[in-house]
Amino acid sequence: MTTPSNPENLIAVLRTVFGFAHFRANQEAVCRAAIAGRDLLLVMPTGAGKSLCYQLPALVLGGTALVISPLISLMEDQAAKLAALGLRVARIHSGMERGASRQACIDYLQGNLQFLFIAPERLRVPGFAEMLAKGKLALIAIDEAHCISQWGHDFRPDYRMLGQYLPDLRGGAPVLALTATATPSVQADILQQLGMVKPERFIHGFRRENLAIEVVEVPVPERPRAICGLLGDERRRPAIVYAPSRKLAERLAEELSVSIPAAAYHAGLDAATRERVQTAFQAGELEVVVATIAFGMGIDKADIRTVIHAGLPSTLEGYYQEIGRAGRDGALSRTYLMHSYADQRTHDFFLNRDYPPVGHLEQVFRALGEEPRAVDELRGASKLGEEEFDKALEKLEIHGGARVDFGGNVTSGGTGWKKTYAVQAKYRAEQFEKVLQFTTSNECRMAALVRHFGDVADASRACGICDACDPAGAVLRLFRRATAAERALALAITGELRQVDYKATGTLQRALDPAGKLNRKEFDGLLDAMVRARLIEMEDAEYEKDGEVRRFRKVRLTKEGMELRPGPVVELLIGDGMVEEFGGRVALGATKKSSTAARKSAKKLEAGPARLSEEGDAVAARLKEWRATEAKRLGVPAYLVMHDRTLTALALARPANPKQLLEIVGMGPAKVEKFGGAILGLCKP
Ligand code: ADP
Ligand code: MG
Ligand code: ZN
Repeated sequence: MTTPSNPENLIAVLRTVFGFAHFRANQEAVCRAAIAGRDLLLVMPTGAGKSLCYQLPALVLGGTALVISPLISLMEDQAAKLAALGLRVARIHSGMERGASRQACIDYLQGNLQFLFIAPERLRVPGFAEMLAKGKLALIAIDEAHCISQWGHDFRPDYRMLGQYLPDLRGGAPVLALTATATPSVQADILQQLGMVKPERFIHGFRRENLAIEVVEVPVPERPRAICGLLGDERRRPAIVYAPSRKLAERLAEELSVSIPAAAYHAGLDAATRERVQTAFQAGELEVVVATIAFGMGIDKADIRTVIHAGLPSTLEGYYQEIGRAGRDGALSRTYLMHSYADQRTHDFFLNRDYPPVGHLEQVFRALGEEPRAVDELRGASKLGEEEFDKALEKLEIHGGARVDFGGNVTSGGTGWKKTYAVQAKYRAEQFEKVLQFTTSNECRMAALVRHFGDVADASRACGICDACDPAGAVLRLFRRATAAERALALAITGELRQVDYKATGTLQRALDPAGKLNRKEFDGLLDAMVRARLIEMEDAEYEKDGEVRRFRKVRLTKEGMELRPGPVVELLIGDGMVEEFGGRVALGATKKSSTAARKSAKKLEAGPARLSEEGDAVAARLKEWRATEAKRLGVPAYLVMHDRTLTALALARPANPKQLLEIVGMGPAKVEKFGGAILGLCKP
């Protein structure tokens, strides 16, 4: 094609080949960078139009675009779309006949292909990379590039190998990494792993204007009713519900399908069933799908009105991708995140399962040698359970401690795995901490997410429609008007803050409520209401004491807060759980008194302010000491051994046997197995 730097030419290709009238935001700049031969990282949300950003430059540059994609379904989908445009496309993956793959290679070498899609594991097939290097590449596009990062939630070992092959493969071709989800640290990891040369970064478009996010504390047993209540209104459908387990997905789907066409979707179902559910949802025959995380990667449905999370997600990246499936048509859509303390326990359980103790990996590693041994044989000889063994071996392979060949034989790898594995496990725990912070924050939900994804420039604007920006407009989350006493306390808080730059929430409460009339949560609830009324600002901060990171919140006055004086008072709306219609308490504006009884019973469910007896104090001290030693021994931060809240709960409850121990927040089965003996010993009077 002719001079690509000419703007008209790009538009002409866009119109004649792709049939689009205009570039979308950012697309043109990315195309120009690629055409100029620059390596680049493109981070834009799902549906923003990333594919065009490699497809159009490929045509302009001439030669074949090599597209690496982690999922066969994605590959098939994109290849079909390009073929429908009359472009010359081939793909090579494990789901294809050998002859078809061979033909694809021939076509490629003869220069007949504009696009060649491959799965990353192809590169491990002897001779394949060498074959690719003989053709003429326009560019190399790595789709879903976050799979490269060992920190990314979809980490694929084969993606991590890509960096090794690129130097020989690429010739002079630019490398484009595309993803919808990469926090700043994942971005850095991608650039480094791929060895990108002076890469340009395009990070853009994370804000979604039409998603109203609510984050609501809902006790686990009340969730099914709340979900049925929400989705009973047809204006809130089609909808996706994300459930934390297969069992819950099944149960919810069953309850919903009494009155709504609904089905479950999870990895435990066979491929045909999953396919059927996906197609029926796409076609509008099903109005609700209750899914575990596996659902939605390939879904292209524009009018999803609601996305509900029936439990805490484990990362904000996953969460944002999931809520992002709502409202692609641009119409207002609502998303609800339900959480409670119980979710933290569920999560600890999964974390322990997915990131097994180093000891498990060590056991497997020790059994490996230079001589290849069959996986089955090793598994049989191992003391670990089958699943535990497979998980440990998988982690070892990912981190280079084991090499598994196509025949299922394993040899020993390097010893570096220990370090990178610890890093990854720690990172995962931190990711969950970020989710927890998100649920307890009072900041605009959208702004918080946009910042999380590294789009700092766009993070200062509030969305106006989330539960933090517009509490009165919330559907599921209940707010009540502050009482006279609470308003008086709010005034006192502004008075106290006027003297200083900032105060920590705890200090503030001790100063204004020395008798401890409000519990910590009630006081925080009032502060949250003041943030929403823009009277104060809060900021997470941390300090280190005894080698441990402690978090606290700084509170400072805003300009409006500075000007607040006794007299006509601003409206303060205090978060109070869930709206009655969905199984919660009184709705906004209703009289206050009916809620007192309900609130009392709700209080029982929460951990009250921790007041320890002398004995409890002694247990806490012993546990802390033990935790510090254990953390040092394992080379991890103390909170990974045990959270503060778990420690306090232990000191309060002082469990006497493993069963009681399991009841404690943060004590999953794996933790009990590993540390149970030691902890129970320390809890004894
Ligand atoms: P992503 O990979 O970022 O998730 P895709 O590349 O799959 O998104 O594009 C999403 C949709 O947007 C596709 O249906 C695509 O055809 C469409 N699209 C992309 N660019 C444009 C454009 N400039 N004008 C109109 N539609 C576009
Ligand atoms: Mg894509
Ligand atoms: Zn907002």
